[in-house]
Amino acid sequence: MLTIYCPVCYAANAETRVVCAECGASLMEEEAGDFTDRLLWALYHPEPTVAPRAAWVLGERRDRRAVEPLIALTARTREMGALEEAARALGKISDPRAIPALASLLRGSYVSVRVQAARALGAIGDPCAVPALTQALADSSASVRAAAQEALNALAAREASRR
Ligand SMILES: [Zn+2]
Repeated sequence: MLTIYCPVCYAANAETRVVCAECGASLMEEEAGDFTDRLLWALYHPEPTVAPRAAWVLGERRDRRAVEPLIALTARTREMGALEEAARALGKISDPRAIPALASLLRGSYVSVRVQAARALGAIGDPCAVPALTQALADSSASVRAAAQEALNALAAREASRR
């Protein structure tokens, strides 16, 4: 039996249902909101493969509405794929609000996530990220150290071009 997930409470429902068995919300596609709303909803999806894909699409769309939800995703998940894609997407959207969350990932997450966080901080290009990136030059992983150095170089180049 196929299941569909409630857009309000995330309960799994039989696909034949038109309202959620748990909360009574409509399960009809056309009432599920616009595309960005549905992607933001998918960041909370109970299937672990869904949130990383939604984060990737949100990054491609450069939609600033996704910044806070992606930051929230980095705070609540321990899934490596979701953390990687959230960091990558926050780099693409390049909103400085993401700097503290990315700095936190850079200090303490999986190696691949630390690399993405360093790259994202370089992409955002805000000098506020310099202390976190400088600290990452002492990371135990050579890939993280290299990504941090690249990000610092990008920041320095940007600063030089401003003068
Ligand atoms: Zn529901």
